[in-house]
Amino acid sequence: MNYHPGVPESAVQVEGVTFTYPGSESPALENVSLAVPAGGRLGILGPNGGGKSTLLKVVLGLLSPGAGRVQIFGQTPQEATRGGLVGYVPQGLEVEKGFPLSVRQVVELAVSWRLPGWRTLPDAELERVESLLGLVGAAGFAEKPIGSLSGGQLQRVMIARALVPRPKLLVLDEPTVGIDAAGQSQFAALLAAVHQQTGVTMLIVSHDIRAIAAGCDRVACLSRRLHFHDAPSGLTPSVLAEVFAHDVAGLAGVGPLAGMHVHAHGPGEACPMDGGHVHPVRLGVEARPERQSGGGA
Ligand code: ADP
Ligand code: MG
Repeated sequence: MNYHPGVPESAVQVEGVTFTYPGSESPALENVSLAVPAGGRLGILGPNGGGKSTLLKVVLGLLSPGAGRVQIFGQTPQEATRGGLVGYVPQGLEVEKGFPLSVRQVVELAVSWRLPGWRTLPDAELERVESLLGLVGAAGFAEKPIGSLSGGQLQRVMIARALVPRPKLLVLDEPTVGIDAAGQSQFAALLAAVHQQTGVTMLIVSHDIRAIAAGCDRVACLSRRLHFHDAPSGLTPSVLAEVFAHDVAGLAGVGPLAGMHVHAHGPGEACPMDGGHVHPVRLGVEARPERQSGGGA
């Protein structure tokens, strides 16, 4: 099911993008550049208000940057979305309890609304819907009303729906919000399965380091500006510590972690730093009060 064997190397190319909302004094994005190779999985971590959703909307062509440019598989975002190259699962989806469609119907609609008369799907498409429902682990509740699902179930169904038109790029905004701990690890496995089966390039934003660490092979931090963390050896504890330091720095002055410095060491290693620690994430990453001023993002 690798739909796109001969795709160009760069799936997403963002160059020097600045975006300011009308009436706002400071930009939500400032000189942001990033590239995702075809088949890559980039996670963008950042505090609330850091510009993550804004960046995704620029990538999707829903917002036009004041400066810079975006290319999706060598096309403009508008061309790419119109051509069905991009699947998008937005942030904070909710469905009314009584919404009168089943899970299967919601997924089928992703194709059938494009067909003349949009009622009968060809067998090949029905099979495809079936296999995607299976891939995301939704086959068991395919006949349930869409409004009766838990947050995690709904998220999986929306991923299946987004995959129906065979996108080359799948964009997920805060996919693990409202999902419990068990659901989080299931979700990581799901992303891995989807990636393996479809080869789809993924762009995932989250304020939750666990969502990024589990599902991505590279990571960047966004707090108005972008900080790229090249991690050829994968997301090791030290890479995640650096990432988390930026995340915490983005919270400057807010909450219990404000002013904390983060460092990493293996679970069995002696900590090279003295003093009290907090353990914000269970990834071998520890944080302690910042000593120097002005570090981080
Ligand atoms: P994130 O997704 O990282 O939480 P957003 O991209 O939603 O961040 O927001 C980035 C900044 O832009 C925030 O300061 C937010 O208040 C502002 N913002 C977001 N949407 C709008 C909008 N429609 N109009 C004006 N400002 C906005
Ligand atoms: Mg957001």
